[in-house]
Amino acid sequence: MATMITDECINCGACEPECPNTAIYQGGVEYEALDGTKHPPLSNDFFYIVPEKCTECVGFFDQEACAAVCPVDCCVPDPGRVESEELLAVRAKEIHPDKDFSGELPSRFRKPAAGDGAVAASVAAANASADPARVGAAVYATAVVSPEDALAAKFPLEEDWEVPLTCFRCSGRFAVPLLYLKPGTVLHCPHCGGSYVPDTRLYQSVQRKVSAFFETWGRSFDELRTRRRRELERFENQLVDAFEQARTEVEKLTATPELPGAPARQRGLFG
Ligand code: SF4
Ligand code: SF4
Repeated sequence: MATMITDECINCGACEPECPNTAIYQGGVEYEALDGTKHPPLSNDFFYIVPEKCTECVGFFDQEACAAVCPVDCCVPDPGRVESEELLAVRAKEIHPDKDFSGELPSRFRKPAAGDGAVAASVAAANASADPARVGAAVYATAVVSPEDALAAKFPLEEDWEVPLTCFRCSGRFAVPLLYLKPGTVLHCPHCGGSYVPDTRLYQSVQRKVSAFFETWGRSFDELRTRRRRELERFENQLVDAFEQARTEVEKLTATPELPGAPARQRGLFG
């Protein structure tokens, strides 16, 4: 989805120079569309973002640059304009035809891979054990990640669950995070621009299904972690015992005078 600026904007202007696509304009200032034509401002009171120029920073950064600098956190995803990473990448290439976009594009859609170099260890484990609903979490720290935590981190948080929708006008498929499926939210089909307003029945049935998944699997993750912890404790005890036994045996070996290489006792003339 494109980024939008809410009316909490304090008009500090910090975001405007950060945008790689010149998609941000001061309130009351006309904007230039991609074809070079001028248009009336989309807001007279606050800084605003021209949606068709916003790529959510795909192609440039791994997070939205405007949101990163905004002191009041009012640069937020526009729930009414859900757009896929592919579409945003195409837009970035259209806006910057001379830029080399070969290789993997920086994108906010890509979460750091668990176990990726020094950056690993999701705190998902801690979160998930504290709250079974939080099967996955995108919080990373420098530590060694366990396989089960790496697995949990592959899954989205409940509110980030992407709900697939079909536009009843053009039959185009698109997806919105569960957070934005709340009844009364006006969504816009990214294909035809038609509006889509989820109703309570749809939201509740999707919410129930998603919650059931997280509840079941959150519990399973907890059980798995407990099993693994016990197994590791058992293994550690056995290892410590075996190590002590081996050390004692080695000590005995080295204390034996008949050990090959041990200094021979000098015998007297008559034995
Ligand atoms: S998300 Fe990126 S591309 Fe979109 S307005 Fe903000 S800085 Fe510009
Ligand atoms: S950084 Fe935030 S508060 Fe400042 S102008 Fe931009 S949107 Fe408004």
